[in-house]
Amino acid sequence: MQVSVDRDRCCSSGMCVTNAPEVFEQDDRDALVRLRQTDLLPAQVDGVRLAAELCPGRAITVTEDEPARTGA
Ligand code: SF4
Repeated sequence: MQVSVDRDRCCSSGMCVTNAPEVFEQDDRDALVRLRQTDLLPAQVDGVRLAAELCPGRAITVTEDEPARTGA
């Protein structure tokens, strides 16, 4: 699983940092969201999904990993 953020949509609420502080942080200068990492560990997925659901700016996207290509 991977996470991405759209800083243009972020309104600096800090909800994501509350729900998944190991993944999200807020910029010291403008309080907009920044990612600490983009690839998620399994234990982080629920917290990041909740952060995405609760984000007032709808700025967080969680995506499944691409399936491995078999070459067939
Ligand atoms: S919850 Fe959404 S709007 Fe709030 S700081 Fe995080 S990304 Fe920005």
